[in-house]
This record gives sequence, structure tokens and C-alpha cells, in this order.
Amino acid sequence: MPIHITTVKRAVNLLFLEAAAGVDPNYEVFDWVKLQESPPKDQKDEFHWVKTVRGELAIPRVIVLKEFDKLPQKNIRFSRSHIFIRDQFTCQYCQSEFPRTKLNLDHVVPRSRGGRTTWENVVTSCVSCNRVKANRTPQEARMPLRKPPKRPAGSLGLLNLRRVHKAWSPFLVFDV
Ligand SMILES: [Zn+2]
Repeated sequence: MPIHITTVKRAVNLLFLEAAAGVDPNYEVFDWVKLQESPPKDQKDEFHWVKTVRGELAIPRVIVLKEFDKLPQKNIRFSRSHIFIRDQFTCQYCQSEFPRTKLNLDHVVPRSRGGRTTWENVVTSCVSCNRVKANRTPQEARMPLRKPPKRPAGSLGLLNLRRVHKAWSPFLVFDV
């Protein structure tokens, strides 16, 4: 599970201290010190390259900590953008993907009927599904949800999704 996005400097520290190791997209852990003996020069994009007086260091894009006490418990702030990201910009009723400007937030149980503004009761909806559903529950409108909405677990790197390198994609989990 991704727990944090760190700086290259901190990553190098952790790798040198052997507190962390590199991990490839197949979840294979590799020894970073050994890797530097013959850096994979052909894998320009798989690594972050740092020039040093002794040549280039290949810094893995994703590292795995060898041990840690516990996962940082960072709760993701409830917001419009974070709901869109959780739902992957996909209307939870018609299951189509839309640009942000064509999306609304929908209260599964309408506010006028006591529905709360929480991770568990708010979903991404396109403007048209939102209008059709109106002041009804999914059952009444016969518009079943794609999946039950949940609060995202942990920090997940979710918030930085648009900033992370594609090497992260095998490690990002959305529907937890
Ligand atoms: Zn829709």
C-alpha cells in the first residue's frame, strides 16, 4: 500500500541506510547498492537519475520500507475534488467518464430526506443523471450505484495522483 510521497534526497538516505529497497512494477524488491554497480542505463524513465562525481545514480521511483511501526493515519479531507478522484471522474450512475465541468456531486439519499454530506452518501454524478435522479433514492429512481461509496483508507497517494510518475500506477488502489 502506498503510504507517502517522499523527496529524492530522503529516498537516497533510506536506501543508503538500507532502511528501504527499490521495488519494480512486478513487486520484485531489488538491492539498490548492487544496482549501482551496473546502473540500467537503458531504463531512462524507470529511474530518477542523479549525477554525481562518480557517475549517475539510479534512484527507484518507488521504494519499499523494510520495516515500519504503523501506517501514518492521515485522513483524506472530504471535498468535491477528492470525491471526483475517488470515483475516478466517473458518474456512479451511468458509469461514463466526464471532465470535471460536466460532473456534479449527488447525495445518494437526498439531503431533503435526511441524507448527510459524507463520504458514504455523496457520489460523483454527471449533470444529466443528477437531474434525472432528482429528489429520489437510487432504488426509487431505478438507478443503481456502481459500488457503495466509502471513505478512502489511509493517505494512498490519492491526493497526489495527478502528480505521481506512472511507475506508481501498479501500487495505487482506489476502491478500498
Ligand atoms: Zn451519469
